Amino acid sequence: MAVIVDADRDKVEADLAAGLLACPDCKGPLSPWGHARRRPLRRGGEEEQLRPRRSTCAGCGGARGRTHVLLPDSCLLRRRDHVEVIVSAIQAKAAGESRASISGRLGRHGDTVRGWLRAFARNVEAIRAGFTRWASVLDPLCGPIRPASSVFSDALEAIGTAVRAAVLRFGPAPASSLVSRLSGGALLCNTNILCRAVRWA
Ligand SMILES: [Zn+2]
Repeated sequence: MAVIVDADRDKVEADLAAGLLACPDCKGPLSPWGHARRRPLRRGGEEEQLRPRRSTCAGCGGARGRTHVLLPDSCLLRRRDHVEVIVSAIQAKAAGESRASISGRLGRHGDTVRGWLRAFARNVEAIRAGFTRWASVLDPLCGPIRPASSVFSDALEAIGTAVRAAVLRFGPAPASSLVSRLSGGALLCNTNILCRAVRWA
């Protein structure tokens, strides 16, 4: 299973060496285990080749050779675009921009943008519930999240509230990176994001 980690490679190496990264299955410390295959990450007109670190857990999987890929929080699982690009498309859609316009403005194929928006819409209730839970865990005083005009906007409102709560608790970080971390990278996967997310609290 992939684990979302800091985009700072040096920090990831230091955390791995210090046993600070937790196995998603048993919560034991992860150890370095080579690298995963290269994968592209697009942002704007640029494409970067990531070579994510791979790790193993002696507690539950080491003996069977089970490994976990450590993906930087600039990514979402199974998507080749930077999380910031994907989140901006979802926000634009909620604000009323057409898919064709988003696709043209971001320089992404219409099918790619449609895939993001459909996946978000399919998982929208789990996203709203998951981020609402995060908001109350990270900031118990944050109060109820006000209903917006649509389930799509409700989910974005919950995401915004959870991101503000995370910043309040842990300090400044790019909002999109927090979206990746709080969803365990699974924002656009048909899954319960809370099961995938980092254990902060
Ligand atoms: Zn384990």
